[in-house]
Order: sequence, then structure tokens, then C-alpha cells
Amino acid sequence: MDAASLSRWTAADLRQAAHAAQSSRNTNPVAAACPACHALVCPGWESLPVYFDQNRLEPVATLRSPDDDTPTVEEHHPDGTHGWSADAPIAPDWFPYNRCDVWRCRTCSRLFLRYTEYGGYYVDERVREVRADLIPQ
Ligand SMILES: [Zn+2]
Repeated sequence: MDAASLSRWTAADLRQAAHAAQSSRNTNPVAAACPACHALVCPGWESLPVYFDQNRLEPVATLRSPDDDTPTVEEHHPDGTHGWSADAPIAPDWFPYNRCDVWRCRTCSRLFLRYTEYGGYYVDERVREVRADLIPQ
């Protein structure tokens, strides 16, 4: 599935899906400690580990606007967090969320955001677990 065929989620869509995934984990202790994606479970952004088998995740949606070729690089940190903070808001209208796709663990349905950071001399795949309580209203 390519990115163009993914449906675009709003902050509300993302929050609802994250809540649903969270409540299914609460009733399923096996999924709470998922062997498939535990390497990615981290509160802030991380580089995708090179050894991680990406087939464990499936794409479900995108946060990118189809009409915006140059989304803002401004970040949203009203409470003094920074880009790597564990409690930084997950704000789909702001960098880097505005260039993320939403992925789901095929085993436990946990949701992750992914985007590719293009530095001067490197390309870095970044991943962050979606936590519903960090998505601004
Ligand atoms: Zn999982």
C-alpha cells in the first residue's frame, strides 16, 4: 500500500484510534507486553532500530495533508517541551507530525507514528508510540 492510498486522519481520528488500541490492551495482558513491537515502545521519538522487522507493522493512515507540499517545520510546544520530550504533544498540524504516517502493530494493534528525517548527511527513520493523552484537543 502506498502513501497516496492512505486515508488522512485528523487529531480526533488519531485520539479515538489510540484510545481503542489502549483499551484492548488493558483487557489483554499478552498484548500489554507485545513481543512484536516492544522494541519500539518508547514515549518520545526514537530512530527505528535497524534490526526491527518492519513487516510487524502495517500502515493505516496518514497525517499528511494531500494539498500541502511544504508543511510547516514549526513545532508545537506550549508547555515548554522539545521535539524529543517524552511528553511532547502529538499535534498533527505541526512538525514532525504533519509528515507522519500512522502504523499499527499487526500483533497488538498498538499505534505508532513514523516519518523520515532528512539531515545533511543522513536519513533517519523515526518512530513514536501514539499516546491518546498527548494529542491536543
Ligand atoms: Zn505490538
